[in-house]
Amino acid sequence: MKMRVGFIGLGVMGKPMAKRILEAGYPLTVWNRTRWKMEELVKLGAQGAESPKDVAEKSDVVITMVTDSPDVEEVVLGPSGVIEGAREGLILIDMSTISPEVTRRIAKKLAEKGVKMLDAPVRGGDIGAKQGTLSIMVGGPKDVFEKCLPIFKVLGKRITYMGPNGMGQTTKLCNQVICALNIQAVCEGLMLGAKAGLDLEKLLKVVTAGAAGSWMLSNLGPKMLKRDFKPGFKISHQLKDLRLALSFASQLRLPLPGTALVQQMLRAVEAEGLGDKGTQAAIVAMEKLAGRTLQG
Ligand code: NAP
Repeated sequence: MKMRVGFIGLGVMGKPMAKRILEAGYPLTVWNRTRWKMEELVKLGAQGAESPKDVAEKSDVVITMVTDSPDVEEVVLGPSGVIEGAREGLILIDMSTISPEVTRRIAKKLAEKGVKMLDAPVRGGDIGAKQGTLSIMVGGPKDVFEKCLPIFKVLGKRITYMGPNGMGQTTKLCNQVICALNIQAVCEGLMLGAKAGLDLEKLLKVVTAGAAGSWMLSNLGPKMLKRDFKPGFKISHQLKDLRLALSFASQLRLPLPGTALVQQMLRAVEAEGLGDKGTQAAIVAMEKLAGRTLQG
C-alpha cells in the first residue's frame, strides 16, 4: 500500500509538486495558509486539512514547501503545527530552502517525538516542479531516504543523498553561491561589451560556445538583452538564499567576498522595486553603476 502523503505550502513550487504526487496515486492531504489555493487540488481528489497538525494526523509522510526558516519552524513546531499531530514513525520532508542550522534544530525537536526528518531542497524551478525533473539534495537518516525514494522519484530526476540532517540544505546553499556569482559574471561581461560598442547578440553567441559558457549565460543572457525580467527565480528568493549562505559561512568563519558583493548588487535591484522580477534583473544594478543600459 502506498504511503499517505501530506503537503504543506502550495505556492509556485508546492502546488505542481503536490499535483504530481496525487497523479502518481498517493492518497494526499493538503494545507495552505491562504486557503483558496487548496481548491484546485481538492477538486482533483486531495483532502483539504484544517491545519498542519491535521495534515500530520492524516499522513505517513508530510512534505513542507514554504518560504524561509521561520516559516518551516512555524508550520512544524508552532501552534497547530505538524509536531502537535505527530506520532512515532511519522516522516517529515522539508523541501523549502532554509538554514542548515535551523534544519538540525527542527530535526532534533521532532526526534523527541519519534519523528524522522529529511531536508530535501530542490533546484529546477517551477518548470522542473511541473515536469518532475527537479534535482533533489537530501540530508537525514539514510534508511529514511531510501524509504522515501519512490516519492522523490515522482518529483525529480537527479536525487542525491548528501549525508546527515542539514547536508541537503548545505548543498543547496553552495549551489546558490555558485549561481549568484555566475549571474554577476554575465552582467559584467555584457556591460563591458555594451560600453565598448560590441554587437551584444554576436558577443553572446561567441562567448556561449567557449569556456565562458554557462547555464546562466545561455538562459539569462538573452533575457537581459531583451529586458525580459519575468521570473523564473525571483530576486527576493535569491536574496534570501544568499543571506542564508552568508550567515552559514560566518558561523564557519569563512569569508565569501564575491557572494557578499552580489548580495549588495541584488539589494540595489530590490531597492528599485524589482524584488519580484527574475534574477536576470541583476543587470539593472550593473546599469546603475555604468550610467547606461545594455541597449544604450
Ligand atoms: P511561493 O510561491 O512564495 O510559495 C510559498 C508558500 O509558502 C505559499 O504556499 C505560502 O503560503 C507558504 N508560506 C510561507 N510562509 C508561511 C508561513 N509562515 N506559514 C504557512 N505557510 C507559509 O514560493 P515558492 O517559489 O513555491 O518557493 C518555496 C520554496 O522553494 C522556497 O524556500 C524557495 O526558495 C524554494 N525554491 C524555489 C524555486 C523557484 O524557482 N520558485 C526553486 C528552487 C527552490 P501563502 O499562499 O499563504 O502565502
